[in-house]
Amino acid sequence: MKVIYECDKGVMKFNFVLEVDDKTSYTIQQNSYKRRATVSLWRRTCEIHLPQDWTLHSAHPDLLALAAVSIIYPFIGSKITLSKGVSNDFHNTFKKVTGKEILPIDPKLKPRKARADSVPALAYSGGVDSTAAAILLPKSSHLLYMNRMTPKGIQLQRTLLNQEAAYFACESMKKLGRNVHSIKTDLPFVRKPAGFHTFLSDSVPSILLADYYRFDSLANGHTLEEGYQVGYNGYLDAKEGPVIKVWAELLKAVDMPYCLPTIGLSEVCTSKIVMNSPYEKFTQACSRGKIQRPSMNCYKCFRKTLLEKVLKKETIDDQLLNRLFKIQDAQHVLAVSPIHFENVITYICSKYNGNHPTMNLLKKKTRGDILDTAWMEKWNISSIEFIPSKYQQHIKNEISKYVETMNKQDEENMKNFNYKHLTNSAEYASYNAKLKELFSRL
Ligand SMILES: [Zn+2]
Repeated sequence: MKVIYECDKGVMKFNFVLEVDDKTSYTIQQNSYKRRATVSLWRRTCEIHLPQDWTLHSAHPDLLALAAVSIIYPFIGSKITLSKGVSNDFHNTFKKVTGKEILPIDPKLKPRKARADSVPALAYSGGVDSTAAAILLPKSSHLLYMNRMTPKGIQLQRTLLNQEAAYFACESMKKLGRNVHSIKTDLPFVRKPAGFHTFLSDSVPSILLADYYRFDSLANGHTLEEGYQVGYNGYLDAKEGPVIKVWAELLKAVDMPYCLPTIGLSEVCTSKIVMNSPYEKFTQACSRGKIQRPSMNCYKCFRKTLLEKVLKKETIDDQLLNRLFKIQDAQHVLAVSPIHFENVITYICSKYNGNHPTMNLLKKKTRGDILDTAWMEKWNISSIEFIPSKYQQHIKNEISKYVETMNKQDEENMKNFNYKHLTNSAEYASYNAKLKELFSRL
């Protein structure tokens, strides 16, 4: 893969030229489980609208290289050749963690070092999890919102994404004195279906602006469910996960290590944190709705509405449940085993004591009737290792204002939580069949 950099009036362009052993498609597992899908290379160029006075000299060449890799990695064959040479150290780290070559090497180039007065950069979406991260990080951190634009010449047949609520969140954050940057980009269209395909795709603006605004670490709103891979095999130490392993090493090589304030917190915790903050008014999980008006027509709306009720200790009435179970998108997700973010549904159900038949069936299916879910309300302290020592005390203090730390029993329950019971279980298959039948009658 050859990558050509271009920059004009702050608009950074990456152009990708394929070589013989590069790939044009790859397969992924959708929703982490079972279903497979093909992702293909769509556009061989993308642009990122940075401040007007930003030039190719505004970022260390290793940062440019890391940004390029974050956009195109799954399509790279045995090597990637860039417009500007990388340091020896970056080359060696890349080779070590990916087995691939990154060229050319500039032997005179020293590795990037963040200045002492630097702060964290956060990939901010306006949603619950990255808002929780913004609350826990020092107030001097910068929030970078990726403002998605459709490239010229591409006609989207259908798009559900509505960024209005996110723009409103960015403006509201600014009014509260936070450093917010909305960076326009068509980066998701490098692949088809459009989206992010590496752990760092949504952090490309932060990486390119790391020297310009002075960043010393990279934060995002990834939660415990993603970090510790709650799945069939249960708890996986986050640092052993292949994703974190590769990208964390590359980030360290540009002196911008991960700073992950929410990786030890489940979605139950991040919701609790946002609900108890002044940011609640403008934070919206739903990416399809309008300002302060979630669509109420997607799985996220289903999950977040119920979770909020539970956390506020409000009664979940049958009328609300009837309405929520009619959401087609939610029906599709709930009929799969395990459900996407099933642990959150388990938590909600474990707090439900009403008589709604579909809800009680969901409670059975997700084991809300038998599992101790207290761990989901608490912080997994071992995740402190994903926070640079400079920020550990601050973030620890902030977390303790909102949630408790897991005790030994909670840790055990967290580690034992998995979906193994779904393999060859007639009992759970029957709950699922009944649920599907109930949905078909709605
Ligand atoms: Zn929605």
